[in-house]
Amino acid sequence: MIVGIKNRNVDVECDSCKHLYSDKAEAPGQVKKYLEEFGEYENYIVKCPVCDYQETYNMNIPINDTDEPIATGDISEREEVQRYYVRYLMRLVREDLISAN
Ligand SMILES: [Zn+2]
Repeated sequence: MIVGIKNRNVDVECDSCKHLYSDKAEAPGQVKKYLEEFGEYENYIVKCPVCDYQETYNMNIPINDTDEPIATGDISEREEVQRYYVRYLMRLVREDLISAN
């Protein structure tokens, strides 16, 4: 899971072995394009250098958290924090949002 994002460094704690590592959210390698075939943007995928466990972040959640109910109790606090980071990440790497930075 993502534990922090700073200066385009995405800090991840491996869900499998708890190893802490960083992924650089930089162009061109990490730019996520729209896939006509699926009608979605590509996922952001990170891989633990120790155990090879992959984590996938969906770049297709609503960009504004006002677009979905918050504090409804439907999702955990941990999940809310993850979604906050994922939105931040979307603004760093999604091709349609990059220019807005
Ligand atoms: Zn790991």
